[in-house]
Amino acid sequence: MNLEFNPKSCWEIYGKAEDRRAMDAMAKRYVAFLSTCKTERETVQYIVEQAEKAGFSPDFRTKACFRNFHGKTIFLARKGKRPLREGFRLIAAHADTPRLDLKQHPLYQDCELGMAKTHYYGGIRKHHWLARPLALHGVIVTVEGAVIPVRIGEDADDPAFTILDLLPHLAQQQMGQKLSDAFEAEKLNIVLGHSPAEAEENEKEGEDKTDKKIKRNILQILNERFGVVEEDLYSAELQMVPAGPARFVGLDRALIGGYGQDDRSCVFTALEAMLETKEPEYPVIALFWDKEEIGSDGATGAKSLFLEYCVEDLAEAWAPDDKPSEIFMNSKALSADVSAAIDPDYQDLHEKLNAAKLGYGPCFNKFTGSRGKYGANDANPEYIGWLRKLFNAAGTPWQMTELGKVDKGGGGTVAKHLATYGMDVIDFGPAVLSMHSPFEITSKADIYATALAFKAFLEN
Ligand code: MN
Ligand code: MN
Repeated sequence: MNLEFNPKSCWEIYGKAEDRRAMDAMAKRYVAFLSTCKTERETVQYIVEQAEKAGFSPDFRTKACFRNFHGKTIFLARKGKRPLREGFRLIAAHADTPRLDLKQHPLYQDCELGMAKTHYYGGIRKHHWLARPLALHGVIVTVEGAVIPVRIGEDADDPAFTILDLLPHLAQQQMGQKLSDAFEAEKLNIVLGHSPAEAEENEKEGEDKTDKKIKRNILQILNERFGVVEEDLYSAELQMVPAGPARFVGLDRALIGGYGQDDRSCVFTALEAMLETKEPEYPVIALFWDKEEIGSDGATGAKSLFLEYCVEDLAEAWAPDDKPSEIFMNSKALSADVSAAIDPDYQDLHEKLNAAKLGYGPCFNKFTGSRGKYGANDANPEYIGWLRKLFNAAGTPWQMTELGKVDKGGGGTVAKHLATYGMDVIDFGPAVLSMHSPFEITSKADIYATALAFKAFLEN
């Protein structure tokens, strides 16, 4: 009898050639997904396309259905062999990621440059965003209600955008400042252009020949390309994200580097698992939220009533006699979100016995929060025991972790909002390095293991 628990690396568990081939194929799909989906809207659109291809319908009376809410959050459900009142299996991840949003009055001209103001979204480290190519994604809505998609900076022949940074020669004073003071949010301004409108265009405007020609040229280009005027930017959501595709990292191509892996790694793996779970024992639900990075507020965030409404409608369509409260309280959920892997250069911020290791499979975080578990869900041990049995039987690796040393920081997820309904829930997802940076790193073995674990959970 082996009394000690010795975690096993995914690389050992998936050491066979056929496993490695399946892992590589999934990693390729994942890299393509990360390169395509850089905002919650793009991610939801991708999910709709995949779900429709797999036979999901917006009609809740069908066996496999989905609801796309404002193009920013999406609910997918599939009937199980058992009735709804016995509870569902739910995986909930978030599709929004930290970024720089353009302000509502974005455009101005200064020092011979056309510029745009930003307001950051979520927890960024401001210096990560300087002096690197950025792409512009989002939508502009006209008064006629047309929703015009914008995506500039991803194709090789697209222009990119950037935020300027100080040259070392003039950074002496800044070098002595505290990191939190050195980089100001109001200096995260985007370079959009440099050339003035052509002479004819300027003459048409008559006066004001000197100080707005570059800004006017930018408006001219936006008008030609999207048919919009400056006022349309008030009803726009435009986001600056790191430009370019995700890619493999390392000589062995074993790591995946790319923007938005918190939490699109869980979106991707949960979606793959959901679409492959064709005949589940219990009804299964996948839910992809917006707004997690800014506290889950708003109509498309996890604090909204969206899930409740969807389950009520599902009950009405599938089992009108089943009480939603009974359904919720019998349900089991994974709050699918990433954990922080131990970083070789900052090991002292992790408590090693409980830190997540890259390549050791998806991480359970029994609780999140900070300063004495404040704001945590703190999952029930009965549920963890049940999950251990499930994953051990399925042969999928997992690790039991905690995000950083006590009192060194912390974070929150959607787990506590799902727990409100009385369902069993725990945080579970792959470990990430450089989390919330423009180039987050995951192990392709962890991505593979996470998808298999999600599938085992949904099928159970
Ligand atoms: Mn997250
Ligand atoms: Mn996050």
